[in-house]
Amino acid sequence: MSDLLSRSSPDYRAVYIHIPFCIKKCIYCDFYSKTDLSLIPDYIKALKTEIKQRSGQHAPIHTIYFGGGTPSLLSIEEVVSLLNTIKDNFSILPDTEINFEINPGTVNFEYLEKLKTIGINRLSIGVQSFNDDKLQFLKRIHTADQAVKAVDDAKQAGFSNISLDMIYGLPFETQSMWLEDLGKAVNMKPVHLSCYMLTIEPLTPLEKHVKKGMVKPLGQKSMSLLFKKTALVLSELQFEHYEISSFAKSRAYRSKHNSQYWDMTPYLGFGASAHSFDGKKRSWNHKSIIKYLKDIDFDRLPVEDFEILTLEQKKLETIMLGLRTSEGINLLKFKNQFQLSFQDEFENITDTLLDQSMGSLSSNKFTLSLEGRVCLNDIVETFARQI
Ligand code: SF4
Repeated sequence: MSDLLSRSSPDYRAVYIHIPFCIKKCIYCDFYSKTDLSLIPDYIKALKTEIKQRSGQHAPIHTIYFGGGTPSLLSIEEVVSLLNTIKDNFSILPDTEINFEINPGTVNFEYLEKLKTIGINRLSIGVQSFNDDKLQFLKRIHTADQAVKAVDDAKQAGFSNISLDMIYGLPFETQSMWLEDLGKAVNMKPVHLSCYMLTIEPLTPLEKHVKKGMVKPLGQKSMSLLFKKTALVLSELQFEHYEISSFAKSRAYRSKHNSQYWDMTPYLGFGASAHSFDGKKRSWNHKSIIKYLKDIDFDRLPVEDFEILTLEQKKLETIMLGLRTSEGINLLKFKNQFQLSFQDEFENITDTLLDQSMGSLSSNKFTLSLEGRVCLNDIVETFARQI
């Protein structure tokens, strides 16, 4: 298995560490995570082994992201030991963005203060809502008051680069309900907001409720209106809508880590179910923590499988990811990468989008307007059919 990942590739810029543990599963969540927290010590040990397995000659790392699951279930000592292992095995830029996801139901001021001391410089706080009815419906483990306290504590602890995750479009959610919730989020003065539409993911409890007729999801039209309203309200408040679900107070506060994904920069993912991408090949680790631990125990890379992206896949991903962001599709980069003019190749599609004010073309990029972003999936489908 060790040849699945090229150790000679020098271009990994981002490191992702997956912490697949949660106190309780939320109703809508399809991320891989387990509620058996007794596995955490063995898992941390295995993570450190995997980091060492994949060390080698790499370009300096620009971003490190602790995601989950619930990274804030780890003790500070465990976080420090992971960070030290990364620093011992990779070269890290001095201004590396080190992001840590926290769940408001698992942290207190002391914990956040220690996170700051050990070098975490960006927090993604999984608030989801400041409305207790929404939080209960979503089966979150925290209340609105706890969410407010977590944000206040994070600021008190010295964090300035704070992002809040919010969810909208619950079955009973009206526009005014969402705008009140969003207003509360804005009043906390975060420099970044990620606002996600509630989606009904396969095999989640929420999907079961929908199938049984216990829950009636909002229709596409209502969702689109909420999406547009979110973008308009936040743009009036000087948030830059730089990715379909992401809003930053300035360019400096964009998520550098996620921006690298959207730019198809190579990244390394450690942990169960984590993905890695070296520019050509995408590989993914075992989802099952048990299989992951077993491979590490046998000193094997815990990789379940991999795929080499075809030219068509790369082209489609470049288009799909570009259309998500305000950076859009970089025309020169596209030409250099695919020996193909984006404008010539997709003129029929882009002309229609321009006519309908859904896209805009400048000398160096093609981007979607807000109207275009509302129809992102359909537009990507149209490109896919022509590739
Ligand atoms: S806390 Fe996050 S990762 Fe865990 S179940 Fe809820 S949404 Fe999923």
